[in-house]
Amino acid sequence: MQKRAAEQKYDAPLLGIDIGGTNTRIGLFPSPDTPAYTLLAKFPTYQEYEQELRAIGQVVREQDVRGATYIGVSVAARIAKDGQSVIFAPNLPGYVDKPFATELAALCHTPVRLAHDTVCGLLAEARFGVLRAVERCAYLTVSTGTGAAIQLGKADTRLVSSIEIGHQILDGNSRKCLCGMTGCLETYTGGRQLELRYGQPVEHRTESAFWETFAEKLAIGLVNLAQLTRIDVVAVSGAIALNRTSLVPALQQNIDQLLIPSTLTLRLATLGETAPLAGAALLPVIPESDILH
Ligand SMILES: [Zn+2]
Repeated sequence: MQKRAAEQKYDAPLLGIDIGGTNTRIGLFPSPDTPAYTLLAKFPTYQEYEQELRAIGQVVREQDVRGATYIGVSVAARIAKDGQSVIFAPNLPGYVDKPFATELAALCHTPVRLAHDTVCGLLAEARFGVLRAVERCAYLTVSTGTGAAIQLGKADTRLVSSIEIGHQILDGNSRKCLCGMTGCLETYTGGRQLELRYGQPVEHRTESAFWETFAEKLAIGLVNLAQLTRIDVVAVSGAIALNRTSLVPALQQNIDQLLIPSTLTLRLATLGETAPLAGAALLPVIPESDILH
């Protein structure tokens, strides 16, 4: 584990960009001490990479972002180990292997840092939300896909890493996953995959058997995560979890039955859909050595 570098002092406003599979939001934060922000723009994320860059560049040019000397970007995609580009993005295939950070920095005349949206969500919940003062924890998003990031910390050391929780293989699962593998957890919990499989959006499902299976499978995934990392708390976010209030209690019940003798506490993320944006804006003050892309 890395010895933790000191957090950067930062007095200027912070510009955060959240590039989700559906929408892009750009927010200006007065300081790293608050998740409150001014929304500068929100538009549907362009599937075409160049178009997305132009749209962001236009907002940065036209809006009053004077003083913001760094841009932090959250992307719904796996980021290359050097933090400079996107390497895997089922929802944004046109972004893969493009020199994203370099080109956006050149376009906006400002340094840029990228991170996976789950890493940004974790950074925000750890600073402002339900993961405050928890050294070993995770941030889980249950949405179009099933993603997570973990933080392993102790005193002045801390490492935040994006993980592929949705693509862990469950025993006996013969379902083909959109990632190309067979048997992934996400075949039971990914909004996009479930809609393709059953022909209706997950939010329209009302049968209790469907949601029982959903919670059982996701609980197994979280128990595996807890056993492999010994995390204590998980902040649960994402549209499916935020809109279905019974999901977190059902997950907790399943986990309590499965996990012996240790415990794992689930908490509904308090920042909701703001977390990736707020975490993106924090990137300039977080030491790069704290994040494992
Ligand atoms: Zn998969």
